[in-house]
Amino acid sequence: MTHIITSLCVRDRGCIDVCPVECMIPGQPVNEWPWIYIDPDTCIDCGACVPECPFNAIYPEDEVPSAYTAKGGEVVSNVGLTGHWEGTNHHGGKIVLETTRTLEAGEVIDLTPDIKPNYDFFQGGPGYSAKDIDDGM
Ligand code: SF4
Ligand code: SF4
Repeated sequence: MTHIITSLCVRDRGCIDVCPVECMIPGQPVNEWPWIYIDPDTCIDCGACVPECPFNAIYPEDEVPSAYTAKGGEVVSNVGLTGHWEGTNHHGGKIVLETTRTLEAGEVIDLTPDIKPNYDFFQGGPGYSAKDIDDGM
């Protein structure tokens, strides 16, 4: 099994440094690959990244919620969304996303479609080569 990053990820990079096998890769280009992605073949399911995520975006694959109930104010980021969001990452750098939407309190969303992009990113997508054009966001 693997851990999965979902569309609740806003690229704050709180998780990347704790991964003992360095399998969490920031997607590039950002509008096509808006999250950080976990390589399912390398992840050892240690769980170290989960508590580091302030946005509760990371789950063991078999625990990705199919009915996530929003507290309200969470930002989802995904290909095709058009909302603008800005923040500051774990290292003090600026985050600018143009692929977001803010959830309303009580809204229920299915996060399980977010599983596949973690696989796709490494199988046919940019995978580890995205590190070569990492702009820090
Ligand atoms: S569960 Fe462990 S190995 Fe897998 S991505 Fe998170 S920190 Fe890395
Ligand atoms: S800590 Fe959470 S929001 Fe930040 S990059 Fe990792 S998964 Fe995304």
